Amino acid sequence: MSFDAVIDVKNVSKRFGGLVAVDDCSLRVERGSITGLIGPNGAGKSTLFNLVAGNIVPDSGQILFNGADVTGLSPHRLFGRGMLRTFQIAHEFSNMTALENLMMVPADQPGESLLTTWLKPGAVRAADAQVRRRALDVIDFLKLGHVKDELAGNLSGGQKKLLELGRTMMVDAKAVLLDEVAAGVNKTLLNDLAANIERMNTELGYTFFVIEHDMDLIGRLCDPVIVMAQGRVIAEGPMSEIRQNPEIVEAYFGS
Ligand code: ADP
Ligand code: MG
Repeated sequence: MSFDAVIDVKNVSKRFGGLVAVDDCSLRVERGSITGLIGPNGAGKSTLFNLVAGNIVPDSGQILFNGADVTGLSPHRLFGRGMLRTFQIAHEFSNMTALENLMMVPADQPGESLLTTWLKPGAVRAADAQVRRRALDVIDFLKLGHVKDELAGNLSGGQKKLLELGRTMMVDAKAVLLDEVAAGVNKTLLNDLAANIERMNTELGYTFFVIEHDMDLIGRLCDPVIVMAQGRVIAEGPMSEIRQNPEIVEAYFGS
């Protein structure tokens, strides 16, 4: 029954002091989907992502990834299994080119490439060439060829977002978590970003789990959409249905 869920959150709770941020929450992200997660500020969305990505450990409940119990595994271990989340390009990488930024992410699973490097120094150059080839493929896929030698710090906000997305393509990701990836991106680049997420999904088979405030973007990209409030899932379905649920519209979209 649950074999097709990439991410399966079962009765997970997380409190911070007296506050229950995630409250007996259960949800699934199906393989091959672009699943949206929406809800008011403070609903527990980012906390749920932190739990799923291993940044924090649940007080109770279980998190399955590809059918295996990964509750309490470190972000590094989850990364090794193909669970990725985007991070803003760190300050220290802004003086590296777009291409170099991608090459900082190992093309193999992290543990393996380190081992190769240590055990067989002669293999480093070959591994480098392989990483470079993959980085160039990613640049090509994202149509960033014209800025590949630009310093990352000089890229526009939207181009940086594309580069962040590109970093997830340097490893064999099974699931990519995007937390408000569109914030502050202009309309044109937002379209590029959305198109690339769609292409990664349909052409390359990536599963996405997306927190986003831009409801048009959610409506365009995501099916299903999960609505969270006060740490719990209160609705789930296609955006067309969610939009027609008067209680949800009134409470969470303010119209
Ligand atoms: P959302 O992303 O939906 O806006 P969050 O998951 O960020 O919601 O927050 C859920 C609740 O948990 C909020 O009340 C927030 O203040 C609280 N919270 C989140 N992280 C922490 C933390 N590290 N320590 C204490 N409270 C936190
Ligand atoms: Mg948040």
